Amino acid sequence: MNKPRRSPDLSATAERAALQEALEALRESEARFRAVIDSANEGILVYDSALRVTAGNAAAERIIGLPLSDMLGKAGFTSLLPCVREDGTPFVPEDRPTRITVRTGKPLTGQIIGIVRGDRSVTWLDVNTGFLQRPGEREFYGIVSTISDVTARRQAERALRDSEERFRQTFQLAASGICEVVDGRFVRVNRSLCEILGYTEDQLLGRTVKEVSHPQDRDVTDAERTRIHAGEVDSARFEKRYIRADGTVVWCEIAIALVRAPDGKPQYEIAVFDDVTERKQAEAALRTAHEELKRSNAELEQFAYVASHDLQEPLRMVSSYTQLLMRRYGDRLDGDAMEFTAYIVDGATRMKQLIEDLLAYSRVGTKGKEFRPVPVESTLRRAIVNLRAAIEESGAAVTYDALPVVKGDDVQLTQLFQNLIGNALKFRSASVPRIHVASIDRQGECEVVVSDNGIGIEPQYFERIFMVFQRLHNKGEYPGTGIGLAICKKVVERHGGRIWVESKPDEGSAFHFTLPKEGAA
Ligand code: ADP
Repeated sequence: MNKPRRSPDLSATAERAALQEALEALRESEARFRAVIDSANEGILVYDSALRVTAGNAAAERIIGLPLSDMLGKAGFTSLLPCVREDGTPFVPEDRPTRITVRTGKPLTGQIIGIVRGDRSVTWLDVNTGFLQRPGEREFYGIVSTISDVTARRQAERALRDSEERFRQTFQLAASGICEVVDGRFVRVNRSLCEILGYTEDQLLGRTVKEVSHPQDRDVTDAERTRIHAGEVDSARFEKRYIRADGTVVWCEIAIALVRAPDGKPQYEIAVFDDVTERKQAEAALRTAHEELKRSNAELEQFAYVASHDLQEPLRMVSSYTQLLMRRYGDRLDGDAMEFTAYIVDGATRMKQLIEDLLAYSRVGTKGKEFRPVPVESTLRRAIVNLRAAIEESGAAVTYDALPVVKGDDVQLTQLFQNLIGNALKFRSASVPRIHVASIDRQGECEVVVSDNGIGIEPQYFERIFMVFQRLHNKGEYPGTGIGLAICKKVVERHGGRIWVESKPDEGSAFHFTLPKEGAA
């Protein structure tokens, strides 16, 4: 304040009144100034030329955590509280913003200082300083510093840095190939993608995805990517081929998603690649092997069918001419000749049976009906009707549980039950046969068990009995050719199931087979 100049025109009273007024105005201006300073969000500390605190506002007290009275006359909060530099190293008196300002002769902006609290947490401050100078004077009479609390901002920045670092590491170290694509062009690729496609990072970054795609698969992602951009779907998966730098083909399973800016504008596509070449090759090899197996099986079946069919004719000739020979010349043949001829007839009869069985076996594959929903119980009942004579003759008790509906060929399923129950009757023990058909419900399939109390089977024959013409007894003991169970196996396998036996000699047998349930894939 300049002293009011003494004016000769003013009386002493008027002079006093003017002084009073000027003082009032000054007080009012100071109060206004104080109010502004105190309502500021930033902390403000005022230092004198000896760099001691002379004034401060409420925000400074709040941010620093000390009452102004503690700071007044001191070299500021850094002399009162343990502080660290921005990099976490200890803060020394030379680092004080006021000292730096005086040393450099320039106002300071953005000095970061941390106050270490009792619980080891750090309050981070951003400090700016300026000189206080009177107009026209070269020397400063004080320093003002403004302080803002940037702890939350620094924490957010650090969290962002951490998360970016984590993302960068995941991106680089991922076993899957990952890339970011803008306008169909690679803008960021990771190491695994470079390895999968056989290019260096620089080579890939200059290229479009289409350029490295297999010509036939170039457009397979277009339609789905359009839908992703339109916001109809979030992501899409594909399997497509790429051409590696060395010209070889690589099959990839890829997942594509779109990253959008907060305003919804597409920023870049992100795609994850997995090399599935080996799996694809194995699948292709399996398909070829399967086709080949189907073809050779069909060929074999056809061959068995034609061969057995064609064998019937010459066989018929052998038996009919032998019978003719017996009828016409029987009385002229001696004992030996008669016996030999009987062997021929017997042999021919057996051969006829074998051929018929073989035909029946090959027909399972070649003449089967299309699968329909079949109630298993109805096929079982038909089998029981067909076996009525044998059941009555043996006095057998055949019982069964509720049975499901399956997808299958009813004629073949009847045949299956007929063979199994027929065997249970044939291979009975001294006791009256008891045969039970049970069903076990399983996921997507049902297991049927035909058990008996017959002679049982030694474990070493569990596999052999299902082979064509394999039997454990000679025909004198039990009649048969050994085709029954082979047919059962073929029927069950044609239905997509398995068949096996559980048995102990003298304790009966249980034949198990599975069938896919109606409605199962
Ligand atoms: P076959 O009945 O014409 O001999 P199969 O193929 O039906 O031919 O059976 C093969 C062999 O399995 C039979 O010779 C018999 O030794 C054994 N077998 C089949 N079913 C039973 C059963 N329920 N109990 C004991 N043995 C059986």
